[in-house]
Amino acid sequence: MHWINHELYIAPIGAYIDPIKPVDKAIITHGHADHARPGHRKVLASPQTIEIMKIRYGENCAGSFQPLEFGEPLRVSDVTITLHPAGHILGSAQILLEHKGQKAVVTGDYKTIRDNSTQPFELIECDLFVTEATFGLPVFQHPLPQTEISKLLFSISEQPERTHLIGVYALGKAQRVIGLLREAGYDRPIFIHGALEKLCDYYASEGINLGMLRKALVQDKEAMQGGIVMAPPSALRDRWSRRLLDPLICQASGWMTIKQRAKRNGVELPLIISDHADWNELTSTIEATGAENIWVTHGREDALVHWCGITGKKAEPLSIQGRDEELET
Ligand SMILES: [Zn+2]
Ligand SMILES: [Zn+2]
Repeated sequence: MHWINHELYIAPIGAYIDPIKPVDKAIITHGHADHARPGHRKVLASPQTIEIMKIRYGENCAGSFQPLEFGEPLRVSDVTITLHPAGHILGSAQILLEHKGQKAVVTGDYKTIRDNSTQPFELIECDLFVTEATFGLPVFQHPLPQTEISKLLFSISEQPERTHLIGVYALGKAQRVIGLLREAGYDRPIFIHGALEKLCDYYASEGINLGMLRKALVQDKEAMQGGIVMAPPSALRDRWSRRLLDPLICQASGWMTIKQRAKRNGVELPLIISDHADWNELTSTIEATGAENIWVTHGREDALVHWCGITGKKAEPLSIQGRDEELET
């Protein structure tokens, strides 16, 4: 397919998908900082991704915005662009491009398991499938998030004198974990670090049930004892968190599968809750698209490229710089 290249530049329309550097025309899959950057002249994205970009970078973070609803085809010269939910965070989209009878899908980040804080992933059959591979190794088999939430609730009931402090990315993970706690019946107020406030407000305004949230203030440390405090991972070990009463450090991330990493980060209770597809989701999704050409980006490309080869598909790694889930704050 010569009309889209390894930099995810679509030549017939002069647009890039999730460009790292400022460009004239950008199509943005979702609001995470390694995909959505400020400074583009024109941005095409889902309405929620546009709102999230404005919340994070300011109203004027692009020259102009064009919102495109899911499932609504947009024709630009001889390319038709349609956004389909990627199941990753609120508003996250896979980009379907149709040109001269060929179909290409660029997933951005995605997961296929149900997550009530975002629109469910939609499978699209295509000729070229550009997939992420953040957790592209067979060792990554994410447990059910509900199992991880019950571990957390059990720990709270066993150690009621401690303050459970959970490290979560501000966009997506925070709201998903809060939502999962509510689904599990946890109805006490949840305390949130100031860095999570705006995005939690936005999710709530979009109808995601987060229940009662309170700003985590150190002067309220007695009120937070025995409860749940959420903060960005960067705040877990700073002065602020050390002033909480007997904090028990938790972190919610797909990376918690790697025990050494949890240990190195001082995480006492690792919660394997991922917003990315695990190995089985990646391979079964690739199969289900029916695509013969697979481009793999964003993480551990080699194993997935190899797997594609042995299952008879043409696969190539893309080495796009600057993509890293751990950059998320
Ligand atoms: Zn992402
Ligand atoms: Zn990403």
